[in-house]
Amino acid sequence: MDHFLYRNGVLHAEDVPLTEIAATVGTPFYVYSSATLARHYTVFDEALAGMPHLVCYAMKANSNLAVLKLLGDMGAGMDVVSVGEYLRAKAAGVPGERIVFSGVGKTRAEMETVLAGGIRQFNVESEPELYLLSKVASEMGVEVPITVRVNPDVDAKTHPKIATGMSDNKFGIPIARAREVYKLAASLPGVKVIGIDVHIGSQLVDLSPYRDAFRKVAELTEQLRADGHEISRLDLGGGLGIPYERSNAAPPLPMDYGDVVRETVGHLGCEIEIEPGRLIAGNAGLMVSSVIFRKNGEGRDFLIVDAAMNDLIRPAMYEAHHDIVPVMEPAPGAAQSPVDIVGPICESGDTFTKQRPMPHLDDGDMIAFRSAGAYGAVMSSEYNSRPMIPEVLVKGDQFAVIRPRPTFDEMLNRDKLPEWMQD
Ligand SMILES: *Cc1c(COP(=O)(O)O)cnc(C)c1O
Repeated sequence: MDHFLYRNGVLHAEDVPLTEIAATVGTPFYVYSSATLARHYTVFDEALAGMPHLVCYAMKANSNLAVLKLLGDMGAGMDVVSVGEYLRAKAAGVPGERIVFSGVGKTRAEMETVLAGGIRQFNVESEPELYLLSKVASEMGVEVPITVRVNPDVDAKTHPKIATGMSDNKFGIPIARAREVYKLAASLPGVKVIGIDVHIGSQLVDLSPYRDAFRKVAELTEQLRADGHEISRLDLGGGLGIPYERSNAAPPLPMDYGDVVRETVGHLGCEIEIEPGRLIAGNAGLMVSSVIFRKNGEGRDFLIVDAAMNDLIRPAMYEAHHDIVPVMEPAPGAAQSPVDIVGPICESGDTFTKQRPMPHLDDGDMIAFRSAGAYGAVMSSEYNSRPMIPEVLVKGDQFAVIRPRPTFDEMLNRDKLPEWMQD
């Protein structure tokens, strides 16, 4: 089921016409569907039914407070990778017992804040982190539950920038060295080993790398238990891919992913954590933009739109594909011709797509980029002094701005002139 459908010739988000949102906030903007976010969380929760589990939303995918509160209120945990994300999760009402702290470079200051505020577990990624965490926790007189992130050396067969589970990646500890590191962890004060963590990459479209990685985790669980460690929790990471191109074969469903979890680690009696980000938020959001100019070039037509790479960087950064559709439904059988859809920024990289067949669109027409709910707004910037675009949340026939577009004054006032320049 899709909550972004044409009705009466206009693309809607749930029951709200996108034209109505555009009239209120202007373009470009992001819009998210509450129903889709909720459904994606529920699908993961159900996929792990029968096993004790917690779905920890990887909030780096979309960390708007309203999105976090929607998921947190449904019972989701959160996977955070910085103290900023931790504070957002707390602000959204998620208790520390449901927050997991991941990341390769946690600082002392981050550890202190998180330990003081309460945390479910640290996913430790290196020995130096283990020593520092032990020291900080001991100083504070607390004992923090930890897993060690192991790198299983499996090829996730995804874009190199988002593959994280091969031995040449910066993430985790090589699985072959895990027993040694767990032994060290068990000897240190302030930390308590409770499980194993693994995350092999993002936008996986095949289950076999998961099967390989989880089998290795199961084997390691038995070994570590034999070594005398308590392994009662397995954090299996995130990364399940979404269908960015409707015309392509669909990636595996969370249900099938749940079956792989059950089949590989279900017999161990562990509590299971998973950390999906993209699959929860990705297809729950659109970016809506207007055509500034249609420019007919020599043998090549361009749509220059009011969104740019600073608003949605995925095409420039990962060669990512987004389906792009007109907001006003084209007539059935309307002729299509290839266009390049580009932003106004003075870089050739500011190109969303090349030679994409599209129905005829002209100045002022609106388009929607699908699958833009994850790694969209969170990766945006104000490059070219372009204000960050607003985020809107829809629920049924209601919509609300959940992050307004800043005014130019607000942007300017963030810069400060040094005293010696003030006259
Ligand atoms: C990025 C990340 C995730 C989420 O990945 P998705 O592809 O968005 O599901 C989960 N866990 C960790 C440790 C991550 O770095």
